Formats: sequence, C-alpha cells, structure tokens
Amino acid sequence: MKFNETLKDITLYEAGKPIELVVREFGIDPKDVVKLASNENPLGTSPAVANVISEHASKAHLYPDDSMYALKDGLAKKFGISDSEVIIGAGSDQILEFIARSLLSPQDSVLMTKITFAMYEIYAKQMGAKIIRTPSYVHKADEFIEAYNKYKSKIIYLCIPNNPIGDCMTKAEALKVIDAVERDTLVVVDGAYMEYASFKDKACEITPQEILKYPNVIYLGTFSKAYGLGGMRVGYGIANEALIRQISKMRPPFNITSLSLAAAIAALREDEFIARSLALHAEQLIRYEEFAIKNSISFIPSYTNFITYLFDEPLNSTEITDALLKQGVIIRNLASYGLNAIRITIGTAKQNDRFFDSFLPLLKRL
Ligand SMILES: *Cc1c(COP(=O)(O)O)cnc(C)c1O
Repeated sequence: MKFNETLKDITLYEAGKPIELVVREFGIDPKDVVKLASNENPLGTSPAVANVISEHASKAHLYPDDSMYALKDGLAKKFGISDSEVIIGAGSDQILEFIARSLLSPQDSVLMTKITFAMYEIYAKQMGAKIIRTPSYVHKADEFIEAYNKYKSKIIYLCIPNNPIGDCMTKAEALKVIDAVERDTLVVVDGAYMEYASFKDKACEITPQEILKYPNVIYLGTFSKAYGLGGMRVGYGIANEALIRQISKMRPPFNITSLSLAAAIAALREDEFIARSLALHAEQLIRYEEFAIKNSISFIPSYTNFITYLFDEPLNSTEITDALLKQGVIIRNLASYGLNAIRITIGTAKQNDRFFDSFLPLLKRL
C-alpha cells in the first residue's frame, strides 16, 4: 500500500507508560505503582465531579449536546468572554489538530522552540508543513522574531509554560512576539499548565480575555491537568468568533462524550479543589528543588506541575528511567527529545517519597 508521503517523516507519539504495563511486565501490585509520568493531578478527580460522571452513566445511550452550550457558557462566564469565542475538543490536542488542518499546506512552515510539546510537530507534519525551531529550548522572544522574519511561518506555537521543560515565557515576552507578526500568521498560546504558572508568578499569566483583542491569536486550555480529568479528554480553544467558526469546520460531530461534557461542566465549579491542588503542588515542588540542590542535579525552575532534572554523564536518563520502572515508579525519559534528562510529575507527599527513596540509591551507586 502506498501511504501519504507526509507519513514518512512522522515518529509515533510516545505517551507516558500506563500503570497496567508495569503490572504486566514486572508483576508489581497495581497499588504499589506510582505514576509520575503524564502530569495528571495527583489528587485525582474531585469527588463531586466523579459523582456527576456516575449520575450520567444511565444516559449513555443519548448523543451528547453537540452545541456544547452549557460547557461553552460556563467557560465564557469564567473568562468574561462570549460563548461564540469558544471551541471544545477531545483534549486541547484535538484543537491543535483542527488548527493544523485548517491552515497548513506543504508550502508552509510552523515555528516553535527547540524542545516543546511533541504534538505541534506531528500535526504540522501530517499536513506536510516544514518545522522551524528556535535555537534555545526555553522560549525567547527575540529568537522567535528572528526566525519568523526569515521564514514567515504560518503558525507560531508558544507553550506557556513549556512542556517538557517547565520554563515559562513572561506575558511581556509573549506579547512582543504577537506584536511582531503579521495578521495572517496564527499564534497559538498553549496554556495547558497556565493554572500552575499564574499561581507561581503573575508575570506569566495570560488570560483568554486579553488575547481576544488580537484577531490572529488562539488560547488553548485543558481539563486534563489541574482539573484532574485527563481520562475524560476535554480541552478548549478561545479566539475571536471568525477564527473559531473557521476551525470548527474541522470538528466531527459529537467529538466529546456526554460523560466528559458533564464532568467538565461540573469541574468548573471546583474552585476549592483547584486551590487545594495548587497548594499541594507548590509545597511538594520545593522538595524536588531542594533534593536536586542537595544532590547536585541541575534542574529547570518549573512553572508547571512537573520538574525536569538534567543529568551529566555518567548519569543516564534511560538507565534511570528503566531502573525506576522496575520498582514501579513511572517517570518520563526525555532522551527522545535529545536530552539526558527526566521529567517527573509532582505527586502527593507519599508518591514523592517513593520517588526519592527509589532514585537516591541510583545516584549513590555511581
Ligand atoms: C497535556 C498537554 C496538552 C493537551 O492535553 P489534552 O489532554 O489533549 O487536553 C496540550 N499541550 C500541552 C503542552 C500539554 O502538556
């Protein structure tokens, strides 16, 4: 069979390993597996939201409300915008896909940092577009502007804060990029971890409302991280109505399940749960920073719910990830990004104890 040429150049997305795999491969009891690999909320799903999901189980035979009015309206009220400025996707991932399909063709290029969320590249390559990267792996406005002036890329991806690095471009720097590009270039502000960044430093916070004054910017948010609903697959995009109308042409009908919709609507009322999640995170993140300093490990100050540890030889991220996996501790190896580094999602105090207890002997062995 002859597949599209564009597929040649695409490597499969490597997701965080599931708990089931560790149970199967190493015979570890599921309750002893600690998963700190996919940036999920360690407090789980808020009990009130879990109840709403169960209540909706008996209505699973009905198609969901395809207008998604209640969720759009909830988001519109939360952000002080209009519901016509919102699009809902099966995760914000799906909105990234709608964007690439709406805008890109093989003559186009897209621009992103050297190391950032892998799906930007995958969706762009599916459309045959060329990938341009800034020289640094943290976001630098001047590098974006210089590359933009040279390549005139059709889409610019700003991952604020950045996965899998953890750095955060300030709002002032992001606006510098936005102001420097022409109106026929789309700037994607991916705020998958914005709740964490704005909790830590207001200089990093970009609100959907303030980007609406730019006709060529879209803000992406998700229920998968701070909101604790990764398994429900709900994300949103916010942009001016004309842009939303265009990318909505790529949306299949009923792209979100009725259970996911109900869960996301309920999650918007969970301010207390989010506050508790952010407070736990801030308190536990410090432990990872202190551990790194004490053991002379370099790390990137994190504005997200994970931390990236960078190793020097002879420490090797692949060996460390594998050794931890055998003990039932799942983290993310960043070797596929060309880094001798690991990314650890900040867990509960108990989960983090497990990580430190398993990791420390690996450092000492050398
Ligand atoms: C997790 C993540 C997303 C989207 O996740 P969904 O579960 O598809 O909503 C988008 N961007 C970044 C940078 C992420 O880390």
